[in-house]
Amino acid sequence: MLPYFREKFGNAASRTHAFGWTADAALEQARASVAHLINAEKEEVIFTSGATEACNLAIKGVFDLFNAVPGDTPRNHIITSVTEHKAVLDTCAALEKKGAQVTYLPVNSQGLIDIAELQAAIRPETILVAIMYANNETGTIQPIAQIGNIAKENKVWFFCDATQAVGKIPLDVQVENIDLLAMSAHKIYGPKGVGALYVRRRNPRVRLVAQMDGGGHERAMRSGTLNVPGIVGLGAAADLSKAHIDTDNTRIDFLRNKLEQGLLKISGTVINGSDIHRLPNVCNIAFVGIKAERLISRLNHQIAFSVGSACTSAAQSASHVLVGMGLDERVIEGSVRFSLGRFTTSSEIDQTIELIIKEVLKLQQENSQH
Ligand SMILES: *Cc1c(COP(=O)(O)O)cnc(C)c1O
Repeated sequence: MLPYFREKFGNAASRTHAFGWTADAALEQARASVAHLINAEKEEVIFTSGATEACNLAIKGVFDLFNAVPGDTPRNHIITSVTEHKAVLDTCAALEKKGAQVTYLPVNSQGLIDIAELQAAIRPETILVAIMYANNETGTIQPIAQIGNIAKENKVWFFCDATQAVGKIPLDVQVENIDLLAMSAHKIYGPKGVGALYVRRRNPRVRLVAQMDGGGHERAMRSGTLNVPGIVGLGAAADLSKAHIDTDNTRIDFLRNKLEQGLLKISGTVINGSDIHRLPNVCNIAFVGIKAERLISRLNHQIAFSVGSACTSAAQSASHVLVGMGLDERVIEGSVRFSLGRFTTSSEIDQTIELIIKEVLKLQQENSQH
């Protein structure tokens, strides 16, 4: 990224001089890297400021496309799920105020939607199925290929917020029939404030209405001068993810299981999410009977972990994901999330197990004294 902040400072949209060409070449290389990671074509990648913008552009863009002509029979129905990220849920809520009909599919105790319920929810007015690939709080992986099939059979577009899955597990927009896909650089070791939306060009050709009007950048789907250094960083992160994906997965899965086996020695401990359909790097675990916030506040100088998602933890309200899974209130109260990564070491896992066990036992003891 560094050269693109300094000597290669051109604007990729400047077509009349070498500074612009250099920036544009870097941009197109990054576009190819992102496309390669998800098995898309380069021209199908639209750069954005992150996954939140990509989710907004996909959902609002498709809704606007189908509702551009007032007076037409409205096709205004969107199907999503209760455990989506706020970038999807709040976008759907905003569209409801503009006349959208939204079905929020429930999930089971593992966080999975029911394919039969999805099938039953589709109606003639349905324009979009918006289901995430993997959940950011629990790591639960939805049956994406099946969802893609149902959407395709019913000629409804499938938007997938794959921010947690891209770069972490192998993913293929062709095999899985994904029509629109959101991703973010900072979830794959890239910089913050940059991401992408995949928009399918063939079988079917997906169109949408831009949410940012202006100079017509990004095939007129997202105007505005592009963040060249950030996008170069996203491209590099995509290349590294592609190269590391298999070795990373095996190692991280092993460490995550070690962490869970260690923590499950504490009585009254349960893992939240699916045992099989789960990302290798996420551990969402409940220490029943204690308050997660208290555990975190005692250890947050030694361990970086959280309740719910980083995006909503300031709000301190119960996780809508765990509530959506219908978990017991005491389980939700005692739930924390650990995320492992490419640089997590085995000795960090050992230390975490030791510190958590010690502090949870203390909290349990304090509880029993009251
Ligand atoms: C992080 C995240 C987002 C938001 O990404 P930003 O790049 O921060 O806007 C959206 N969806 C999921 C599933 C995420 O994990």
